[in-house]
Amino acid sequence: MRYPTIKKDPDRLAIQPHLLQYEQCRASFGWDSVRAELAGLPGGNGLNLSHEAVDRHALGPLAQKVAIRWLGKGGELLDLTFADLRERSNRFANMLVSLGVTAGERVFCLSGRIPELYVAALGTVKNRSVFCPLFSAFGPEPICQRMARGDAQVLVTTERQYQKKIAALWERLPALRFVLLTDTPEHRDERVRSLSRLMTEASTDFTIPPTSPDDMAILHFTSGTTGMPKGAVHVHNAILTHYLTGKYVLDFHRDDIFWCTADPGWVTGTSYGIFAPLAHGITSIVDEADFDAERWYRILEEQKVTVWYTAPTAIRMLMRAPEEQRRRFDLSRLRLVHSVGEPLNPEAVIWGEKVLGLPIHDNWWQTETGGIMIANYVSQEIRPGSMGLPLPGIEAAIVRRMADDRVETIEEADVEGELALRPGWPSMFREYLHDEERYRKCFVDGWYITGDLARRDRDGYFWFVGRADDIIKTAGHMVGPFEVESALMEHPAVAEAGVIGKPEPVIGELVKAFVVLKQGLTPSDDLRLDLIGFGRARLGSAVAPKEISFVDNLPRTRSGKIMRRLLKARELGLPEGDTSTLEGSGAS
Ligand code: AMP
Repeated sequence: MRYPTIKKDPDRLAIQPHLLQYEQCRASFGWDSVRAELAGLPGGNGLNLSHEAVDRHALGPLAQKVAIRWLGKGGELLDLTFADLRERSNRFANMLVSLGVTAGERVFCLSGRIPELYVAALGTVKNRSVFCPLFSAFGPEPICQRMARGDAQVLVTTERQYQKKIAALWERLPALRFVLLTDTPEHRDERVRSLSRLMTEASTDFTIPPTSPDDMAILHFTSGTTGMPKGAVHVHNAILTHYLTGKYVLDFHRDDIFWCTADPGWVTGTSYGIFAPLAHGITSIVDEADFDAERWYRILEEQKVTVWYTAPTAIRMLMRAPEEQRRRFDLSRLRLVHSVGEPLNPEAVIWGEKVLGLPIHDNWWQTETGGIMIANYVSQEIRPGSMGLPLPGIEAAIVRRMADDRVETIEEADVEGELALRPGWPSMFREYLHDEERYRKCFVDGWYITGDLARRDRDGYFWFVGRADDIIKTAGHMVGPFEVESALMEHPAVAEAGVIGKPEPVIGELVKAFVVLKQGLTPSDDLRLDLIGFGRARLGSAVAPKEISFVDNLPRTRSGKIMRRLLKARELGLPEGDTSTLEGSGAS
């Protein structure tokens, strides 16, 4: 069903949006104008993410403004002003210097949304080291894979995470020099140290060294379909995209209170949970706790949130909660709601209008793009179910692959193809760490191929169709089937495993594994439970399979690749499509 377009009358919006004339803005846009709105390091010493996000405000009239309001799980509240953030991130940077951690070296962080994570991010990039956040619900395997591939030199984490997941991994992480514990008052030994102790000893004065806009600043791991996770490298220049999208998409104004519900373990929680709002000098809410409908409505009311950036899974969970619950809260301060990460059902956009009094603005981007690329803008009409229009400065197209490594752009409306972007925007990933070939393969014939299938309507609105590969999106988190299959194969009873995303109405897809047992073993419920437990212990709750089916064999191509597409079609009772490459099929 197609839902009616939601018209907007900019004159009736409470605050005039920054982006009023979309077409005109696109036509005259240049990234130089964005750079001109930023400060740059004093003395023409380049561009540093932390200077733009914190120091330039801390050294001006916004010094005493709350930059981050942190809400603890247990009801604690901590306000960090721009001046506080500058002081703490200076200490963190000095501490890295004292540990001998230099430019380009990787500082990982494995924690929930605690204040130390935010300080670590800002302090690390001040030192021109590279910040790499890990999702706290990862198990030891995903953590080890990422830290090893990212050459982690330092890990900031909590005592609990350290004991449960890290202590046993040291041997597999030869580059790791220090683990800094956020909640331990005394150093444990030379390598395991107390972060608070080091921070107290560090000076509050720090001068950011000259930083090139092209210096590596952030490393974000994203899942691949065939191999282990890929480390997407982002540079300081990404702040231009963070800033521009904060202005044109999220429509930040100075008095806004912004809440991005994403965890910094995923790119949205870094680009928009840390850098974009700070770069605009506005106040951000950080909630340590996990989703809870009552708690979320209360935060929106009590914190007087004006701009809210969340995700489809959370919206669907709110849609399931009783409407009466929502009515108990006053959300009149809220003026904009945005969503990202997975397809946003058109019903959700309409629900927003009805229950929140505001439509939900969907937008599209991915780890590799570093910032929002396609969006529904405040001043533009919303087409429920559509991801919107490309950001000014971004050229997006639907392309079809041709022979000889060429692609052809599809100009006709409503024809499905691969979503592609013209490379060159400031927050574009610059490499997959240690994987030049995989990086090179993303670029074909002058386009960056995103891995998503989409179509564009007559008026240029983009509509998401699906992934072109087997990547799973569960509760908004990307999971690579290969990573899950590899972990399951380590179980002594497993001969082979094939993993798919099975559609699920609230979390989008759930991770489902098909397992072939070793000869002589018989499937049983006990074994299934054992495998589920094994998966959780290795991979963590965010990645582990929730369902397991035993099968006699897995469909494979003649070159030996698991045909996950076929597993999925069979699971869902859908047509099997082209099976000519299936091992044992008659076709040659
Ligand atoms: P990640 O790199 O983990 O941020 O995931 C990016 C992927 O999430 C995209 O390539 C899409 O497959 C999906 N995605 C992100 N935003 C949207 C959206 N608005 N609608 C549909 N899918 C989305």
